[in-house]
Amino acid sequence: MLIVMDQKATPEEVNKVVAAIESKGYTARPIPGGERVAIGILNNEGPVDASLFLGLRGVKDAIPVTRPYKLANREFKPENTIVYVGDARIGEGNLTIIAGPCAIESESQALTIATHVQKAGAHLFRGGAFKPRTSPYSFQGLGEEGLKILKKVRDETGLPVVTEVMDPINFDLVEAYADIVQIGTRNMQNFSLLKRAGRSKRPILLKRGMAATIDEWLMAAEYILEGGNSQVILCERGVRTFVNHSRNTLDLSAVPVIRKESHLPIIIDPSHAAGKRDQVLPLSRAAVAVEAHGLMVEVHHAPEEAMSDGAQSLYPEQFEDLCIQVRSMFDVLHNR
Ligand code: PEP
Ligand code: MN
Repeated sequence: MLIVMDQKATPEEVNKVVAAIESKGYTARPIPGGERVAIGILNNEGPVDASLFLGLRGVKDAIPVTRPYKLANREFKPENTIVYVGDARIGEGNLTIIAGPCAIESESQALTIATHVQKAGAHLFRGGAFKPRTSPYSFQGLGEEGLKILKKVRDETGLPVVTEVMDPINFDLVEAYADIVQIGTRNMQNFSLLKRAGRSKRPILLKRGMAATIDEWLMAAEYILEGGNSQVILCERGVRTFVNHSRNTLDLSAVPVIRKESHLPIIIDPSHAAGKRDQVLPLSRAAVAVEAHGLMVEVHHAPEEAMSDGAQSLYPEQFEDLCIQVRSMFDVLHNR
């Protein structure tokens, strides 16, 4: 349930409502808004009796929240969440482009690609140091050495960096280097990882599980928000279907649904959805059309030599073209 306070409610009145909620054994979560404060009621098993709070001073309304996710829900927080990282602003009104290789392979590889994507207009650099690979015989990433290379990329280019964390044991290490910590599709329901992400000071890029429903995805985000970290970016990267013409099926309809259900920013990863580079541009264009807040694209200067995901990695010139196209589409849609 959401208790909506009157516009003129005083801080004392808000505190009294919080105390009343807590006296019933619930958790109260005040959410300051542009015009008024709302107070979310959490930890209730079953329905909450609105009449307990409607009579209190300063209370305007009590709205039942029907969805299982509360903090990720737009009913709870109508204003869009904007995540700020370095010079990047991720959320409504912007099209943020994150680009880089699947995996950090060496300093020269990372710096070469970073220089290209920055020139093309990327706002953030991506690259995995800890790689979740299907086969134990595949390249697993450079680990801490890869993180140090990411730091070098940030120092030399000024681009904030995004990198994946695979387990709670490495979280301290990854967040010490990353500007945004990524949780991958295979870990979307790794609840210890989500709880640790909730205690992080870094924004979390939460990819959709490859077979997760939107409700499950938002419940995963809820773990992070509930832990106290309000900076969550959702990333649709395709779901597993029966098709074999692409690696996954990009669920573009997730974007309007998330935009309606949640205040969190949502970006699209066309690369892992496609699995093939010729599909990345059309899917990126479609992502802009459905009003995603950004894109995360894999780019490699020599994809035929890439240690992972070469087939879906764009050549730098293709990425440059993609940036030009999606930016002009975005400008048209926003009458710029
Ligand atoms: C990645 O972004 O490098 C990655 C492994 O993606 P996903 O978790 O979507 O497969
Ligand atoms: Mn990849």
